[in-house]
Formats: sequence, C-alpha cells, structure tokens
Amino acid sequence: MQKYLADYGSAPIEFTKGEGCYLINKDGKRYLDFIASWCTGTVGWRNKEMAEAISSQAKKGVSIPPLFRDQKQEEFAALLCSLAPGKLTRAIRCTSGSEAVEFAIKCARAATGKSGIISVDEVYHGHTYGAASVGEAAQRGTMGPTLENFYKIPLPRRHDEEPKTITALEKFLKSRKDIAAFISEPVWTNVGCFVPSPSFYPAVEKLCRKHGVLFVMDEVATGMGRCGRMFASTLWNLSPDIVCLGKSFTGGYATMGATLITESVFKKSRGIPAYSTFGWLQQDLAATRKNVEIILRDKLDQNAQNVGAYLLELLKPLTSLKKVREVRGIGMVFAIEFHLPIAPLIALKAYRNGLLVAFTDAHNLFFSPPLCLNKKLAREGANILKRVCGMK
Ligand code: PMP
Repeated sequence: MQKYLADYGSAPIEFTKGEGCYLINKDGKRYLDFIASWCTGTVGWRNKEMAEAISSQAKKGVSIPPLFRDQKQEEFAALLCSLAPGKLTRAIRCTSGSEAVEFAIKCARAATGKSGIISVDEVYHGHTYGAASVGEAAQRGTMGPTLENFYKIPLPRRHDEEPKTITALEKFLKSRKDIAAFISEPVWTNVGCFVPSPSFYPAVEKLCRKHGVLFVMDEVATGMGRCGRMFASTLWNLSPDIVCLGKSFTGGYATMGATLITESVFKKSRGIPAYSTFGWLQQDLAATRKNVEIILRDKLDQNAQNVGAYLLELLKPLTSLKKVREVRGIGMVFAIEFHLPIAPLIALKAYRNGLLVAFTDAHNLFFSPPLCLNKKLAREGANILKRVCGMK
C-alpha cells in the first residue's frame, strides 16, 4: 500500500483500544504498555473520569483564543505554580514539550539580555530548532546547524564522572559573560535513565547563582509523578527559575505544554512572542486539569515511587546475566543497559510476548509504565522482561 505518513519508522502493530495499563491491537491481542507514550501515561487508558471531563467540555463547544483571559486557565496556572518547586508564579500556555523548551530559551534570553544557553550533552529536549539546539547532536540528523550560542558540558553517566562535569561548567561560566541559562533534566530520562547523585544539581544551581545564570529544569518527561515526586526538581531541593512541562501532565489525553517562570523572569520577559493558537484549548485544558487532579487525589506520584521501587527490585537480578551491564530506575522510569547493541532485538522479543518497551539507543532498553501500574502488573512485566533477556 502507498504510504502517506512522513513518519520515522513505525512498528507494525495497529492499536485500536486502550484499557488501563494495556493497549489492544486490531486482532484483540493485549499488550502490557510499559512505554505509556514515553513518560506520558498516568491514570491509565480509557479512563472514565478523563472521558467524562473531555466530553462534557466538548459539549460546551467553546474555543477561547489566547487574546482573552480565561478563569479556568487562570485556576490551572495557579494549581501548577502551587505544586511547583521554588518561587514559580506564572505559566506560559503552549502545546508541547518542545514548545515549552522554546519558551524557556526565549524567556531566559529576554530576562538576562544574554544569549548563551549551556546544557548537558546527549540529552533530548525536543524537535524544534531551539529545543534541538539545547539537545543532543545525534538527534538532529540532517537538519543542519543548530541555532547560535548553544554550548554543552559532558553528561556524567556515572557518579564518579560528575566532578569532571562540574569543573567543566565552572570553568566555562568563569570564562563567559554572555550565558543566559543552564537547561537540563533533573533525571536524564531520554538518554537512558541516568540518575545523578544528590549533590550534583545543588552544585550546578549554586554555580548558576554565583554567575548570574538562570537555572532551568526541563521536567517534560520527569514531571507530574514520573520520578516519584510531582516535580523531580524536589528530589534535589532545587529552586529553578524556569520549569518546562508537557507529557505526563496531560496523561496522554491532550496536546498541552507549559513553561513556569518566576515573577522576576516574567516581568523581564514580557513582550516576547508568546501567542500559541492551540495553547491550552478548552478540551485539552479539561483533560489536563482532570489528569493532574486524579494524580493528586490518588497519590499516583507515591504509587510511582512504591510500585516503581518494587519493579526495580524485581529487575535487579537481571544484572547477574553476562549480557546486562546495569539496571537503572527511579519512580516509574527505567533502563536496562546491555554490553552489546541488542536493545532493539530485546524490545522486539518483548512485543512478541505482549509487552511494550522502547530503547534510547542500541545498548539501552527504556520503559516508563503508566503511573497507576500495580504490583501484579509490575510482576507480569518483569517476568516477560526476564524471559526475553534469557533469564531462566
Ligand atoms: N523535553 C524532554 C525532556 C522530553 O523528553 C521531550 C520529549 N521526549 C521533549 C522535551 C519534547 O516534548 P514534545 O515531544 O512534546 O515536543
């Protein structure tokens, strides 16, 4: 059949339905969904409360362009700011994680009058030009040069590599007067789930303060319970000047992003281009708000912490296999690192066995189950993973 989608390679499974932590294909085969739209699924698929929130808003038939103030948007912004770490007081409305990162760059540049952006190498921050310039080179493919004035420090894959990264940052910030912001993820999810030591980010934040550089946390993947906290920045007691949100705050039911900023950043960055036609449309807002309310009511952040720790324990014995280098995880985000480039093959075997997992590169299997996963399903997934990794 002639194909019309300009996609980037897609697995040949056609899902037609969701149910809790499962996706179901057109032949009725059930797959335990450990991808959850990549750090996005929270309350489970085909959630009745979500369907109700979306359909009742749709029936009102109202679409409010960003020209107007809206009480519901105002209330949701207040809720996000009340949950957020530090002193974030304003939310910029947008449609995706990439756009949230774009706003972070724009706000940082406008607020400081400087242009440089420093980030951690190899980490993914989105597909748009600015976000891709913050992010890793390998993801840029053939898109050509990045935007100007984006710099990198090395990703510390092991805790003993952190001093080298801190020293590189210190040296860099000392030598430059044109750096607006440091941007990174509080846990490096997309590069293979690397969890920094508790002292790493406080040291980075301190350096940023010392050199007048804004400290930005991209919580698009880590936020809203994924790492066992509503904001992963709180794991390390951080007070970011800017936080980016997307993915899990929608639960996979809406197309929404947000950039949370301090009052000071807001005042100094007024006037940047900020009109996003689809930013926080009423149906998306109804879905996202309901999703956040359910996460809070059902304490899904704590569930992610508890069930995630349980799943990690179940998977740790995999390190006894020769082929497995490391099993990593925090909350409900995990990676299994192999010595050889077999992650795609293991993912394929998992599909055949009814489990959906992804990979960040040929060595690292990656998965981020829905936050509502229970222990029974964690066991079911762990058993499949052990089987496809060749554990008796
Ligand atoms: N930042 C991070 C940390 C992400 O994981 C992603 C998506 N993988 C993005 C930004 C971009 O989000 P989106 O795909 O919604 O544009």
